[in-house]
Amino acid sequence: MQIRFLGTGAGDFLAPEEQENEAGFLPEVRRLGGRHRRYASSAMLPPDTLIDFYGDQQIRRLEIETASIQHLLITHGHWDHFQPLAIIDFARGLPQPLQIYGNDMVTDALEFAATHEWQETAKKFGPASSPADISTHSVAVGRSFDVGNAVVTAVHADHCIDKMRMVPEQKALNYVIERGGKRMFYGLDSSRPLPETVEQLRGFTFDLAVLDATFGPREIDPALSGHQNFAMLEQTVASLMELGVFTEATTIVGSHISLVNVPPHDEIVDELAQKGILLAFDGMTIDI
Ligand SMILES: [Zn+2]
Ligand SMILES: [Zn+2]
Repeated sequence: MQIRFLGTGAGDFLAPEEQENEAGFLPEVRRLGGRHRRYASSAMLPPDTLIDFYGDQQIRRLEIETASIQHLLITHGHWDHFQPLAIIDFARGLPQPLQIYGNDMVTDALEFAATHEWQETAKKFGPASSPADISTHSVAVGRSFDVGNAVVTAVHADHCIDKMRMVPEQKALNYVIERGGKRMFYGLDSSRPLPETVEQLRGFTFDLAVLDATFGPREIDPALSGHQNFAMLEQTVASLMELGVFTEATTIVGSHISLVNVPPHDEIVDELAQKGILLAFDGMTIDI
């Protein structure tokens, strides 16, 4: 199984070019470019599966062959992971219908976008003027389903939850993906794993885990965030190692990196490597 990181940034990935923002590490990231620059988090499992979709700019930039793409897994409905109109537009350029998997919010939004159109002159919704070439599949937590020749199991991420008021705004998903005898955990956009998620993960041992490292070395209050910093990432890895879910043989990747809060790639990559964590960058490919 191969994973190709199309984007490895957090929700502030737009900042360098599109905002007059001098916050944090942005000026440095903007100046350095290259591996320091990150776009919206998404990945490809060649040849046929994408995970999350902000737009196709990274697919074009990395010159990825799209004709074989048949499946799209969506983790959750935040705008930097999920753009219904861009997805429908992208699907129209494929030789086959795009199969899209996600939570109810995601499948509802796609079905709405596929059947409605905002009419600018009338200032109201009307029916869509051209058909969408997509099929949606609502995914339930704990359920396994086939995605091409992969078997995927969805687990509940600690994300999109107002913890103080106990309001889960939507069920954000992380995915266990098994293919060709290898197993990967795609765990971005989650704070520390929920108890039921730990129980579900206990049934597996992973060859590769992609984990949330959004805030890097910055201190955060876990009560107020659906993400991790490096310290929380290390604790998550240690706790799952103790349970045998991760082992010394598991490749651990930190991704979904904030451009404002995290120093440029080259300044932190070695320190993280010493802790057994690989820092993702846009275009990185891992074979397991
Ligand atoms: Zn995100
Ligand atoms: Zn999110």
